[in-house]
Amino acid sequence: MNKPYNFNAGPAGLPLEVLLQARDELLDFRGTGLSVTEISHRSKQYEEINFETQQLLQELLDVPSGYEVLFLQGGASTQFAMVPINFLTDGRVAGYIHSGTWSGKAIAEAGKVGKIVIAASSEADRYKKVPEVQGVSFRSGMAYVHLTSNETIAGIQYRDFPDTGDIPLIADMSSDILSRTFEVSNFALIYAGAQKNMGPSGVTVIIIRRDLLDGIPDNIPDILNYRIHAKNRSLFHTPPVFSVYMVNLVLKWIRNNGGVEGMERRNRLKADLVYGAIDDSGGFFGGLADRNSRSMMNVTFRVYNDEQEKLFLRQAELNGFVGLKGHRDAGHLRASLYNAVTYEQCKALADFMRHFQQSFG
Ligand SMILES: *Cc1c(COP(=O)(O)O)cnc(C)c1O
Repeated sequence: MNKPYNFNAGPAGLPLEVLLQARDELLDFRGTGLSVTEISHRSKQYEEINFETQQLLQELLDVPSGYEVLFLQGGASTQFAMVPINFLTDGRVAGYIHSGTWSGKAIAEAGKVGKIVIAASSEADRYKKVPEVQGVSFRSGMAYVHLTSNETIAGIQYRDFPDTGDIPLIADMSSDILSRTFEVSNFALIYAGAQKNMGPSGVTVIIIRRDLLDGIPDNIPDILNYRIHAKNRSLFHTPPVFSVYMVNLVLKWIRNNGGVEGMERRNRLKADLVYGAIDDSGGFFGGLADRNSRSMMNVTFRVYNDEQEKLFLRQAELNGFVGLKGHRDAGHLRASLYNAVTYEQCKALADFMRHFQQSFG
């Protein structure tokens, strides 16, 4: 079978080894004679997956003790609401850093729940770069500060995170978790939908500092309460069994391929290949993001004129490259280079770009 080169932004490609293992195990999960989708979430087998997957994340991200790892449903979009419902209480104020489409959605949802302030923004730069956060002083007493570590649509990503001191820092890491190393201890809460870098859609990973759980009010619905989910070890209700199982396989694949450090090394080389084809093109291709904010995960770019850009997309598809059309908010082109995208696929894309330029430039 000839698999296309998959540069989809999400749901995104999964490692071939993982898909093959899932296929092999689909009818008989760990000797049960049943599919993983057919067993009770209260069974010993599912308990094992749940626990193992949690442990794998703790190991790969070097999560310090004092944090809980949760597997919830509803995607990162539900977290946009859940974060303020749990923490934007008692008339307090939260700070939001505005860097593009996804932070914008988080801001809009939080604004419906309570009072927020925009602590920093790159709106005036049309989200070509991440907001300047070094040296921003955050008002003490804020409930939390929220940021988006990688803006999937504009293709911008933080190099360094702000120091918010005692104020809990909360991050949406949906599109770059497990792609590079970082200190979990700088964050009070991290959330990420699985479908970019961890597995299929359907499960959202939450890493939350345990002391935050105590302050959550009782009068919010249980299904939206982090404390209830933590107390029930993510088994408060039926979990997305198959998605968690797939995340389990992806995490083992990461572990077998050099861990997060290995991913980061490879992701850097991959991004260099594609940005290299843009930068060496003498203006035929142009990157949409400022150099210092360029994302290693989502390369946003354009061809110097719209006709050529349409032709590029057509030719790319004919040559087996899929998912290169940019999001409607940013337009143009986007190549998403998540963990499962191989170096060889990125090399093929960079070669194709150079070849296209030679033929049509
Ligand atoms: C994809 C994405 C989301 C939305 O995730 P859903 O699972 O569709 O709710 C939120 N934030 C970021 C940064 C994303 O990349």
